[in-house]
This record gives sequence, C-alpha cells and structure tokens, in this order.
Amino acid sequence: MAEFDVDLFVIGGGSGGVRAARIAAGHGARVTIAEEYRMGGTCVIRGCVPKKLFVIGSHIHHEIEDAAGFGWTIPPVSFDWNTLVANKDKEIARLEGIYTANAEKAGALVLKTRAVFEDAHTLRLADGKTVTAKYVLIATGGAPNHGPAIPGIEHAISSNEAFHLRQLPKRVVIQGGGYIALEFACIFAGFGTDVTVLYRGDNILRGFDEDVRAHVRAEMERQGITILTGCTVQKIDRHGKEFTTHLSNGSSLASDLVMFAIGRHPNVANLGLENAGVAINPNNGGIEVDGWSKTSVPSIYAIGDVTHRINLTPVAIREGHAFADTVFGKRPVQVDHSNIPTAVFSQPEIGTVGLTESEARAKFSRVDIYKTDFRPIKSTMSGRDTRILMKLVVDGTTDRVVGCHIVGDTAAEIIQAVAIAVKMKATKADFDATFALHPTAAEELVTMRTPTARYVREAAAE
Ligand code: FAD
Ligand code: NDP
Repeated sequence: MAEFDVDLFVIGGGSGGVRAARIAAGHGARVTIAEEYRMGGTCVIRGCVPKKLFVIGSHIHHEIEDAAGFGWTIPPVSFDWNTLVANKDKEIARLEGIYTANAEKAGALVLKTRAVFEDAHTLRLADGKTVTAKYVLIATGGAPNHGPAIPGIEHAISSNEAFHLRQLPKRVVIQGGGYIALEFACIFAGFGTDVTVLYRGDNILRGFDEDVRAHVRAEMERQGITILTGCTVQKIDRHGKEFTTHLSNGSSLASDLVMFAIGRHPNVANLGLENAGVAINPNNGGIEVDGWSKTSVPSIYAIGDVTHRINLTPVAIREGHAFADTVFGKRPVQVDHSNIPTAVFSQPEIGTVGLTESEARAKFSRVDIYKTDFRPIKSTMSGRDTRILMKLVVDGTTDRVVGCHIVGDTAAEIIQAVAIAVKMKATKADFDATFALHPTAAEELVTMRTPTARYVREAAAE
C-alpha cells in the first residue's frame, strides 16, 4: 500500500494551482486539487477576465464617440448594465467548466471543498475527511484588503462585489491609486458614471515610471475623471441608497457607490499553517519560499499570490509549472522574475516592462532616455484630445534597452512583443536596425534616434 493517499495535494484551483496540478499529473503523479469557491480562481472568476470584458465593454463608448469624424451618424445609443453582467457571468461559467475539465482530463481529482492542514502531510476537508499527501502545494491566492477601521467602512465594496452590482452607479468614489482603482475608474467612466478617485499620496501609480504616472493622470482627468491626491476617506455615511464620503481634507462627496481598492493580502489565515510548521515571510505577510517555491517545510511548496511576490496571473502559472517540473518532472526550474511585462487596463492602457527611469539611473552610471509623446492618427479625424506616450530607457554603457513604457490604446498588446526583445537583451541599435511598420503607433519605438535626456553619474564621468 502507498505511504500516502496522493503524491500531490494542491490547495486552491486558481491560475497557479490548476497549472501545477495538470503538469504534475502529466508527469505521472497522483494529484488531488481542492477548491473552496469556483475553479479558475481570482483571475477567471473575479479578476483579469471579467475585468477585461468590462474594459472592452466600456471602451466601446470611446469608439462610438470617435465615429462621427469618420462620417458615421450613430443614432442615440443606450447601454444596459444587466446585459453586460449576465453575458459576462455566462462566459465566466463556461471558463470555470473548462478549468475543471482540463484538470480532470490531465488526470487530477478535483474536489470542491476547502482544505486545511492537520499536519504537514495531512489535509482536512470541509466534510471532516482527511487526505494524506507526499507533497502539498499551497496556491490559495489572495483577497482584497478591507478598508481601514473608519466609521461606515462596511458600506464600501471591493473589486469582488464590483463584478455583481445590481445596477450601474451614477456616481462612484474609489479609494486607491493602483491597478484596480484605475481600471475600475475608467470602466465606470466609460459607461457614463461620474467618477472620483481618491489617492493618499502625491500621485497615482506609485512604483511606475514618473512620466507614465503624469501622463495617465492627465489623460484620465481629460476624460472627466476627478483625481484627488493627498486624500483619504475618514467616514462613510449612508442615507438610503446614497452615501456621503467624508475626506481627510475636510470636504465630502455624495455618491451611489464607494469602492476601496487598496491592495490585496495573501490567503494564509485559518489554513492550519501552524499545524504544518509553514513559516510566514515577515516582510510581506505571504508564505515564505525559496527560489524553488519551497516553504520552510521541505515537502510543502507555495506559489502565486499567496507568496505575495509579484501578483500576476502569468507569474502564478509559471511558478506552478516550474514547481511541477522540478518536483515531479525531474527537470529542476527556477522562475526568473526579471523583466515581467505588465499592463494596467486603464483607458488609455499602460504597458510596461523592465526598469523605470529612476530605477535605471540608480543602477547604471550612464542612462539614455528616448521619449515621445504624440497624437495618434485616429485622433486627427475623431477629434479626441488624447496623446500616446512611448519611452525607452537605455543603459548608456552597454546600449541595452532596459525599460520600455507605453501609455495609449493597445499598449498592453505592444508591450508583450517588446518584452521579448528586452528579455533577449536587445540593444538600442537592434531597435534602430528594425524596420518601422507604417502607419502604426508602435513604429515610434524603432524611429526615436536622438536621446531626449542623457544622464552620466558624477563618479563615472570622465
Ligand atoms: P487565485 O487565482 O486567487 O486562486 C486561489 C484559489 O484558492 C481561489 O480560487 C480560492 O477560492 C482558493 N482557496 C483559497 N483557500 C482555499 C482553501 N483553504 N481550500 C480550497 N481552496 C482555497 N493579473 C494579471 O496578470 N492580469 C490582469 O489583468 C489582472 N487583473 C486582475 C483584476 C482584479 C480585479 C484582481 C483582483 C486581480 C487581477 N490580477 C491580474 C491578478 C491575478 O488575478 C492573480 O495574480 C492570480 O489570480 C493569482 O493566481 P493564484 O493561483 O495565485 O491565486
Ligand atoms: P495596488 O497595490 O496596485 O494598489 C493599491 C493602492 O491602494 C495604492 O495606490 C496604495 O497606495 C493604496 N493604498 C494602500 N493602502 C491604503 C490605505 N490604507 N488607505 C488608502 N490607500 C491605500 O493594489 P490593487 O488593489 O489595485 O491590486 C492588487 C494587485 O492585483 C496589484 O498590485 C496587481 O499585482 C494585481 N492586479 C493586476 C492587474 C493587472 O495586471 N492589470 C489588475 C488588477 C490587479 P500607495 O501607492 O501609497 O501604497
């Protein structure tokens, strides 16, 4: 009789857990995967996918507005929020089914249950049954941070609820200046909602390139989104269906919805980690792992958002795959977390890979910046007052392109391709040697010839 019931028990049927389960099963492991809510996890059920569907839906408003300059007469249009939500729900249910089917097809047993550690090799399920496993993978993801303990915080929703609103709010107040706050601010604005973003610091998108931060803010404000900086929520009052949000600057705002998007925390609570001896990383509150995603217990691994490294779907997937190849495929792989492209699906989008200008200037003694800011061809006839930003950050010593930052429609699509070049250590000369593809916005990336700024650190100056 086998020593354990299964070779691998995966806790969490999200992006990372499902990939790990499928690959491990493909390597011949006996795998069980437990999911307490819906297969597919955050990305599929209440993250990337429904968010992108909402972004696409709201962006259609821009297309309609832009049509007149091209000769189209569009009769008065109307938008039905409930149709959007219902169609989105249908698509998400379809994807959920595919996630379950794919895990099962690969040979994994899918259990729709919560699982917690009883000890390092034993999991207790919701019905009280236990399963023993040689290895356990923790892939429990994360959840929205609750707002600070202010009066009325219970009236604020998170992104989880934003996907299931009964009706489109006429006015919304959103606290936060990161990915989710900006994506939802633009989604709501596209559907005609009056949006106010509240951010506690001096400018939104801390950690992004300074030019990107300034450009996106200006673009969002131009569309009528109000962005109040240096500002937090002190109290939320409810009067029937309306809310009054009291701000730290002494003013107040009336709205039909208050949303907090102030970061996410790893799902580590009540997992029985102490029973298994799994350590938490004191710096970020996630599960502590080494470069192999191994926890403090050699038979237990953790991947994805629960480790709170880089909380993106492709990262969770890559970590899950690497774990399965390493432990079950006799193919040890460590994930290289450098040069991960990322996009904020604000409108306009941000696409970015590599270092910001300030990171590059801290790291390299010579840095060349190539930057352009121009009106897209479509705007010449649509009349839309928008500009695209493109920026290359180059290590002036090696000529390597170490960062690329784009703000504009399809920035995410463009940056995915640029990321290949950056990952391959392409130089600015390689970019210059590449033919432009005309007429596109992306051609600017290979036609910027003269640096807009050149920095040489004192100590390195000849
Ligand atoms: P998850 O996908 O969160 O999966 C964890 C699963 O574990 C969940 O299904 C949960 O129910 C389950 N679980 C937890 N505890 C237990 C337990 N004890 N027993 C059984 N099951 C359990 N990333 C991008 O790359 N691009 C985007 O555009 C993007 N947009 C996003 C938009 C929003 C609104 C949000 C919230 C996130 C977005 N992300 C995006 C981030 C992305 O969703 C996550 O990085 C990704 O889903 C992490 O995958 P994971 O496998 O680590 O965890
Ligand atoms: P982010 O970390 O992106 O942004 C959080 C924002 O909330 C920041 O502006 C932060 O300010 C602010 N904040 C934090 N704490 C407080 C507080 N107590 N009071 C007021 N403001 C506060 O988190 P999100 O929730 O937007 O998203 C979570 C993660 O999910 C992202 O970081 C990303 O990894 C992933 N994600 C990815 C997406 C994509 O790939 N397109 C889309 C959505 C999510 P400050 O900067 O000052 O700390």
